[in-house]
Amino acid sequence: MSTSDAQPLIQMQGVNKFFGSFQALKNINLEVRKGERIVVCGPSGSGKSTMIRCINRLEDHNDGHIIIDGKELTDQVKDINAVRREVGMVFQSFNLFPHMTIVKNLMLAQQLVRKIPKAEARETAMHYLKRVKIPEQAEKYPIALSGGQQQRVAIARALCMKPEIMLFDEPTSALDPEMINEVLEVMVDLAKEGMTMICVTHEMGFARSVADRIIFMDEGEIVEEAAPAQFFDNPKSERTKKFLSQIL
Ligand code: ADP
Ligand code: MG
Repeated sequence: MSTSDAQPLIQMQGVNKFFGSFQALKNINLEVRKGERIVVCGPSGSGKSTMIRCINRLEDHNDGHIIIDGKELTDQVKDINAVRREVGMVFQSFNLFPHMTIVKNLMLAQQLVRKIPKAEARETAMHYLKRVKIPEQAEKYPIALSGGQQQRVAIARALCMKPEIMLFDEPTSALDPEMINEVLEVMVDLAKEGMTMICVTHEMGFARSVADRIIFMDEGEIVEEAAPAQFFDNPKSERTKKFLSQIL
């Protein structure tokens, strides 16, 4: 860990992002310190996914600076790979490899990206499968698991890379209601252990209990940023009030 506690782990400064002539991110300024838990919410199309995809360079930004653990995201492939190793990401769709067992899914990136020997990769995989409470599923194929179990596998897979930061993009949106809590519980555990997290989610119970700060986005802008109590009980912006009235 090279970051001192005073320096933010994630810094976005004046970030703009265009898709053609459409501006998806407008002057985004955001700082996240080590161990902070941020929840991002806002209407569909407001730029939430684009913002977090810029953080691990799945999208490149057009203006401004994104600095992760002191390293600025530039076009240098070497720097991008260094940053990607520090940032784990979990998507709405689980994206497990269907032709590989669960444990092999967890070993793959460790072996390919981190060059970790097979036995050690397996040991790490089993460690994180226990953490997400499904070690007994290790030798099954993804199709045999429920959606909630597959998403927990996806979280374990990201953790196998020992990331400094975890990004979640609507991790429970594709799940049947009865499976949402088992995934949120794993995220709550991670938060308690001090993981730095940015979670795009509309699970407002989770936001209220776990987030240090909630960020509300609309039309590519950060409209409001506040602690949960303030955000829910006393939102400042009319746009936030309207959004909350629709989802709560
Ligand atoms: P959210 O995650 O808040 O629903 P997104 O970040 O996915 O929003 O999208 C923000 C806006 O950018 C939307 O209007 C979307 O249509 C547009 N957008 C996202 N990705 C692309 C892309 N690859 N090409 C063109 N437009 C895109
Ligand atoms: Mg999205």
